[in-house]
Amino acid sequence: MSFMQTLSILQIAPTLAEFFGVHLTSQARAVEQILTFAYSRKPIPQVVALVVIDSFDSRVYSDFADELKGIHELVKRDGLLFECETVSNHTTPAIGSILTGLKPEDHGILTNDDVGKSKIKSILEILEDEGKPTAVAIETKGAKPLWGRISYVFHIDDREDIFEYDELIKKHTLSVLGKQDLRLVFSHLRAIDRFAHRGWDLSAAAKVTDENIRAIASAVGERNGLLFICGDHEAHLKDRRSSSSRGNAPATVPLIVCCP
Ligand SMILES: [Zn+2]
Repeated sequence: MSFMQTLSILQIAPTLAEFFGVHLTSQARAVEQILTFAYSRKPIPQVVALVVIDSFDSRVYSDFADELKGIHELVKRDGLLFECETVSNHTTPAIGSILTGLKPEDHGILTNDDVGKSKIKSILEILEDEGKPTAVAIETKGAKPLWGRISYVFHIDDREDIFEYDELIKKHTLSVLGKQDLRLVFSHLRAIDRFAHRGWDLSAAAKVTDENIRAIASAVGERNGLLFICGDHEAHLKDRRSSSSRGNAPATVPLIVCCP
């Protein structure tokens, strides 16, 4: 496995903004390689799916290569693979950063209670305001503030059966990819994170996640769309920290960009 270069997850939103030609305020810069890749497609993609896989870090990506074969295939076939520095160990601030291009201290969304209170607009709302319809398929608490602000909001209640949860996220993502006016859908898959926290066998979660990504990739492919897949933060695995070969270096997450 080789990464093309090291980025920051802060660069995802500016790259999407640049691609769609809308203004987003961030000190992070757009990734030229991704823009060149996207603009070189014929026809130029009209829709982007951004799928965040919770706790999908660079080591999970390589350690579970067999289970994540579908994702690895997307890279091998014709995809870009970057390593991204993270900005937080927690989901809510990390996703806030992925969607705004701002550090947690700048967007201020640190806990669930902060969701919806930030004055900062995400790339979803920015696109929507420019007449480019967007969608989310995420957990109910995160989705609520977006009701009435973007075109398609699919909210899934948290539950014990995380495979059922991810199945619903996938189902809604597939259905909204059928909307011809859609420009960007953001989805959040959580099975790997749940398994990591419980100390369960990650390979089962990785396999199911891979199946879900395959289905989303094929729907993106039917639309000649662009698919972004990334993690949000390091997996919280108990036996890991001491054996990390990176020492105190910040954990990284993969970012995959492809036209499936
Ligand atoms: Zn997370």
